[in-house]
Amino acid sequence: MSESIIIAETSKGAVAPVTAELVSAAIAMGTTPTIIVPCTDSSIADNAGFEGAGRTIAVKGGCFENYDASSWAAAIDAAAPAGTLLAAATPQSKDLLARVAARRGLAVVQDVVAINGSNLTSPIYSGKAMQTVALSGDAAVSVRANIFPAANASGADVSVVDQSGDVATAVQEIIARASARLDVAEANIIISGGRGMGSPDNFSHLERIADVLGAAVGASRAAVDTWDDIPHSMQVGQTGKTVNPNLYIAVGISGAIQHLAGMRSSKYIVAINKDADAPIFAHADYGIVATWEETLPVLESALSAMMA
Ligand SMILES: Cc1cc2nc3c(=O)[nH]c(=O)nc-3n(C[C@H](O)[C@H](O)[C@H](O)COP(=O)(O)OP(=O)(O)OC[C@H]3O[C@@H](n4cnc5c(N)ncnc54)[C@H](O)[C@@H]3O)c2cc1C
Repeated sequence: MSESIIIAETSKGAVAPVTAELVSAAIAMGTTPTIIVPCTDSSIADNAGFEGAGRTIAVKGGCFENYDASSWAAAIDAAAPAGTLLAAATPQSKDLLARVAARRGLAVVQDVVAINGSNLTSPIYSGKAMQTVALSGDAAVSVRANIFPAANASGADVSVVDQSGDVATAVQEIIARASARLDVAEANIIISGGRGMGSPDNFSHLERIADVLGAAVGASRAAVDTWDDIPHSMQVGQTGKTVNPNLYIAVGISGAIQHLAGMRSSKYIVAINKDADAPIFAHADYGIVATWEETLPVLESALSAMMA
């Protein structure tokens, strides 16, 4: 493997913390990564310097205002040197990585959870089995968040490549659902609700506990499919986001295999369900057999007292 190039994860106009984890992943591959920061304002790249990384390239362009796979891939492909590409295994970055890989004719390995030199391990069949892929050349690799330690920040040696004039953007309209809340894909603590919450209004109980803990709020697919107010961006599972927090609290979620596929690698799993036979309890470190109506108010006041 010649060189590695990290496509920095950006969120709300800043470099997201998972980028520091990608540096450790690149080092585990035996490489010194170059960091590419897609941006509209190159000053955000000043925060993309890390111990163990090489130079930082701010790829600046109007197309980076809103995500559009085709224009982002064209701009990044033009600016990034040759080598193995790394990005976070978020839905957007997995999509982008596949686009850039197609342009460069690279093999793709998604959602890597362990690296030993050029041997990469990732889950397959919804997490029922793990595969180890031995790279024999450059590839495009997405890495799951919260697996690798974050590299320490250091001063960034930034050069700017301006792609503004070169890339047309196909985005006509973005309808954003305003959310100040942490994304489940990056959170260390997640509290998720399922159909057992009864109504989307009841997710306010989860939000209050999330506020106390600094957690993200997730949902099962049944909750997302049943209620318009619960957006797909909150869905955890096979057809939603794969998460890897230190603590996952599942409330009113049965524990279907497709939900487990997205969260079973969480360090600690707590389940709250009124049915003692719910499959989620087979995977939980701590289980509470009770309704959420009984449990959440007690949990909220106990946690608020602890954190006060
Ligand atoms: C191809 C495919 C992909 C899928 N992808 C996903 C995915 O990405 N993510 C996902 O989550 N699912 C996915 N599913 C759906 C999955 O199979 C389940 O249908 C879904 O996870 C069930 O969601 P749930 O547990 O919220 O609902 P339910 O199965 O209806 O479970 C509700 C639970 O709430 C409990 N409950 C009810 N009332 C209360 C109360 N008052 N207090 C406490 N507990 C209560 C019940 O005992 C029950 O266990 C997928 C399915 C398919 C076929």
